[in-house]
Amino acid sequence: MKDIKCPLCGTQLKQFNDIHDTYHVRVGCQKCKWTTFLTDPEKADQAAEAVISKFPPIMRLNSGDKLLLEGAKDYFTVVSVELGKAVIHTDKGYCYIDDVVKWPWELEQKGRDE
Ligand SMILES: [Zn+2]
Repeated sequence: MKDIKCPLCGTQLKQFNDIHDTYHVRVGCQKCKWTTFLTDPEKADQAAEAVISKFPPIMRLNSGDKLLLEGAKDYFTVVSVELGKAVIHTDKGYCYIDDVVKWPWELEQKGRDE
């Protein structure tokens, strides 16, 4: 399955099998106790991504994510996020939501090391 993280806690999402149905799965967060409906593995990934896409962008950031900021030539790497203040700390200093030109999921995913 795809590398998808929970927007609530940042935990990697998992596939859960149903004891009565060995083909279909649910995708969800073990820690926050939510899953998608039971469907085939590819659709379960898509359903999980559809849920996550409804969260505000700042909640979907994880440390290590790359951002493209207004007026910057290089990518900034997310270190941590202060949700209450809506501040994003990066390897090159902090920024705000309005400074972000492209979010990680809007950047081309190339050269990813697994
Ligand atoms: Zn979670």
